[in-house]
Amino acid sequence: MPQTPYRRILLKLSGEALLGDESCGIDPKLLGRLADDIADLARQGLQLALVIGGGNIFRGAALAAEGMDRVTGDHMGMLATLMNALAMQDALERRSVPTRVMSALKVNQVCEDYIRRRALRHLEKGLVTIFAAGTGNPFFTTDSAASLRAVEIGADLLVKATKVDGVFSDDPMTNPNATFYKRLTYDQAIAERLKVMDTTAIVLCRDNGIPLRILNIYEAGALARVAAGEDIGSLVVTGNEQ
Ligand code: UDP
Repeated sequence: MPQTPYRRILLKLSGEALLGDESCGIDPKLLGRLADDIADLARQGLQLALVIGGGNIFRGAALAAEGMDRVTGDHMGMLATLMNALAMQDALERRSVPTRVMSALKVNQVCEDYIRRRALRHLEKGLVTIFAAGTGNPFFTTDSAASLRAVEIGADLLVKATKVDGVFSDDPMTNPNATFYKRLTYDQAIAERLKVMDTTAIVLCRDNGIPLRILNIYEAGALARVAAGEDIGSLVVTGNEQ
């Protein structure tokens, strides 16, 4: 039996989580460490879906700032998320964890298309299901894709893995006086402009009652502790529960 109060979790990893000491691309050691943590959870019987960003390779907004057409830049960003998804699939399969990559853009020779009912079937069978290419639309982010997929698959919890311990009033890397929020509401995150996720992503979670846990992915065992129901990092809720 799974050692977890959750049945189905969607984990959002930013592309930067794969960077490690590299300036661009993927640090294989870090990828391996993340894959070890994810594999441990999958072996407990937890249904796990992943959304991985692409910011370690391309971001549409950054490319547009350099003069590129924004939509083209966003297409490149979405393809970058697919590369990360394939790297994670490979790392998980090397650990004997069965996976599927499903893309919101059609890349049929590389992976499956995203089809919700098929995704649910994969999850029920215990396959780690990686949703690639964001929402498939420009001008969105992979945070929005993670919220959307979490709602679509009926996840009990959305986990956003970051480089810091949770939600702060300011960047704790540059402001040592930044206040830490252990628990907050989605409305509070919007009103106080806290860097939780972009507003589209927050509103989707809020309106569909999906709780969000923000944790530090570099903290050893953090993912397993959250999956076991421990109160670590920050928890963002709709407010009706409080
Ligand atoms: N992107 C997009 N539509 C989506 C998701 C992502 O156009 O639904 C593009 C966008 O250019 C974005 C890039 O893909 O900058 C990479 O995603 P994101 O910036 O969310 O990655 P992360 O910051 O999580 O690494």
